Amino acid sequence: KKKDEETQEAKDRYQTLFDLSPVGILLIDPATQKAFEFNHTAHQQLGYTAKEFAKLRVGDYETIETSEEVASKISQFKLGEKISFATQHKTKKGEIRDVRVFVQLVKLSGRPALFSVFQDITELKQYERALEEYAYIDPLTQIANRRQFDQTFENEWRRSERNHTPLSLIMIDIDFFKVYNDILGHQAGDTCLQQIAKTIHTSASRAGELTARYGGEEFVVLLPNNDIASAEKMAEIIRHNIAALKLPHPDSDISNYVTISAGYSVVDFVNKTIDSRSQLLKQADDALYKAKKAGRNRAYPYKN
Ligand code: GH3
Ligand code: MG
Ligand code: MG
Repeated sequence: KKKDEETQEAKDRYQTLFDLSPVGILLIDPATQKAFEFNHTAHQQLGYTAKEFAKLRVGDYETIETSEEVASKISQFKLGEKISFATQHKTKKGEIRDVRVFVQLVKLSGRPALFSVFQDITELKQYERALEEYAYIDPLTQIANRRQFDQTFENEWRRSERNHTPLSLIMIDIDFFKVYNDILGHQAGDTCLQQIAKTIHTSASRAGELTARYGGEEFVVLLPNNDIASAEKMAEIIRHNIAALKLPHPDSDISNYVTISAGYSVVDFVNKTIDSRSQLLKQADDALYKAKKAGRNRAYPYKN
């Protein structure tokens, strides 16, 4: 009698866990690949009823083909063996959900069954993607930040080296921006930075071109497959487009409006004129410095 009671208690415990579990549970017949038992969460998340489940094979709602490796492992499972993998479920409504699945081979009423538990990780994945995106975007101007620039610069450098195509870089700095802030306030300075960033970004918007906020009021434009002549053209376009915004600058020595200075340089991978990315950056920065010294509101190429 005591044994019966214990058995009943174990059953009740299992049933409670099965019913209350916040993760989906499916018992699958490995021969037919069909679920013969499922809990409330599995029903809620996938949307299928018992009748519908009885007709569905795992592959009907698991959208990404579970990798061959996983599939072959499961097909050769021995009792007690388990595996965990990430995949996607397609719900009855047609929604795609990211899930993590845990499967173990058990014996039920003398027959093998796949005990499959799945956790919906869609929100977690979305959160991860958003976090990653935030990590590469400057919050004030909404353009690429230094981190994204560094990564793209590295990739484009390698690609240009492989293809023997030139890679140009423009460095841009707002003229007399400290005094702009001092007179109009930091908030007006922020708004100005946003407008300048947007203008540079739309000026250099062809595929492959990247505009990034490099530091406080400094921006960089990366121009793959552009020689020094097209870098010059682009620098002039940017300078003109910013002047055309006619953002009043109350105390600039050179204009009534906000202006920028720019320096640009190119690496030519046919003659391999430059060895490193930092050297290209330094050349553009030197050219910018010269443009500032020559009176600002101009774009200069690097010259040694
Ligand atoms: P120059 O023409 O030689 O470039 O002079 P400048 O005044 O622009 O140069 P400086 O480097 O002395 O000043 C840059 C200023 O940019 C200082 C700082 O107050 C301002 N700045 C940097 N980042 C931000 C920002 O995020 N928001 C605002 N509002 N101002 C910023
Ligand atoms: Mg500066
Ligand atoms: Mg400045």
